[in-house]
Amino acid sequence: MLDTELARLATALDGVLIRPDDADYDEVRAVWNGMIDRRPGAIARCANVTDVKTALDFARERGLLISARGGGHHIAGTAVCDDGLMIDLSAMRAVSVDPDRRTALVEGGATLADLDRETQAFGLATPGGVVSTTGVGGLTLGAGFGWLSRLHGLAIDNLVQAELVTAEGREVRASEDENPELFWGLRGGGGNFGIVTAFTFRLHEVGPEVLFGPTVYRLDDAVDVLRGYRRFAATAPRQCCVWADLMTAPPLPFLSEQVHGTRVLTLMQCYAGDPAEGEKVLAPLHEPAKPIGSAVMPRPYVEAQQLLDGVYEKGARNYWTSRNFAGLDDPVPEMLVDLTRTLPTPQSDILICQFGGAIGDVAPEATAYPHRLAAFAVAPGARWIEPSDDAACVDWVRGVTARLSSSGGEGSYVNFVSESEARARDAYGANFERLAALKAIWDPGNLFRLNQNIPPAGTG
Ligand code: FAD
Repeated sequence: MLDTELARLATALDGVLIRPDDADYDEVRAVWNGMIDRRPGAIARCANVTDVKTALDFARERGLLISARGGGHHIAGTAVCDDGLMIDLSAMRAVSVDPDRRTALVEGGATLADLDRETQAFGLATPGGVVSTTGVGGLTLGAGFGWLSRLHGLAIDNLVQAELVTAEGREVRASEDENPELFWGLRGGGGNFGIVTAFTFRLHEVGPEVLFGPTVYRLDDAVDVLRGYRRFAATAPRQCCVWADLMTAPPLPFLSEQVHGTRVLTLMQCYAGDPAEGEKVLAPLHEPAKPIGSAVMPRPYVEAQQLLDGVYEKGARNYWTSRNFAGLDDPVPEMLVDLTRTLPTPQSDILICQFGGAIGDVAPEATAYPHRLAAFAVAPGARWIEPSDDAACVDWVRGVTARLSSSGGEGSYVNFVSESEARARDAYGANFERLAALKAIWDPGNLFRLNQNIPPAGTG
């Protein structure tokens, strides 16, 4: 890119244009996954919708590769490109709540922390993810599930409207009434159709306290506990959501020192209703074995949403995948526990997310996200620090994923996959062709290709 052209772009923006020689360039190009080390030709830190349009027009007219950055959390690092223009929304984080209509208007670069803080000020919330530094943008466009999803659905099930700038540089709205096919595609189709500058979400009464926290078990008891978890999940009320994590015990104050550094199973439990009722409902989970520690208690919803932030700090190297399961039938629990003995680093884990409830109320073809009938997602995640461990950690995840696939695991979640593009067909299943047709209408030149890419129909 010519300096004179970049200078013109810098002048045209209300926000800031950051170039490789600028002091904050390295900080701004760094995303959550420390494995990603890409160097954009420039970064447009947009202040408003006009900036997004200006940056997009600039890139399109010059044939530049673009990337869109929301919260910068995607594991594949698709928020940042080499050489091209990174369109950074992280200065566009305003959240405005209408308590009467129970809706929130959320700018495209907001994080879940921004959303939760503003909505809980009115005793309201909408389903998001489980780590508050995650961007609303990428999370929602991929589907978005968290502690409230069994009760109130995925993030996309609460999306009322999206405002976006398209590949042509047009500002359009998508909702059930306006551009409904585009609205269908945005609900799970990722960043393939435009840059979303604002989302409107439906809100629900939540909290202010929920019953929330971890209970930890010895790995030797984990098969029994997982079988109990499977039985519990089959009839659990929608207010409760439990994720199981096969992991190495961190030095948490409620665990004895002898346990630190050993392999354990943690049940993270959330009951979004009366805490006393929640204790009764969650009790059967703890019948199969004696826990070695527990910190389940009523907590403000905002605190619950931030409890895992420290575990998932930015900067470590990461490689993840996921597979969906209709159930955790034998021998899956035993297999997962055996695989836990092979975790490549103390920060790595095998996470089991519970679905069902309101997620399954929506038909697989009603939104672009198709995995409505899955009861669980199993997500092996390697996390490590040293680049010299890259090969071993990536190989471990791929090996575990192959075992999951051969044990009934299928499909994948676009927000949990390290390898962009390769998995799109797998991730969208029967909805893939319809998405490709939509892509051919809204982005026939595949301008938005740094994502879990859906090639426009007819382009292969
Ligand atoms: P970014 O990396 O900024 O963006 C990812 C992609 O999304 C971009 O390449 C772009 O294509 C697109 N994009 C982002 N914002 C916009 C926008 N405004 N307009 C158009 N395109 C956009 N997912 C869950 O569902 N539930 C969880 O509980 C959960 N927990 C997570 C915890 C951690 C620690 C991490 C790292 C991820 C987690 N995820 C979870 C996955 C998460 O949903 C994805 O990483 C998601 O892409 C994050 O969005 P982002 O805006 O931060 O990502």
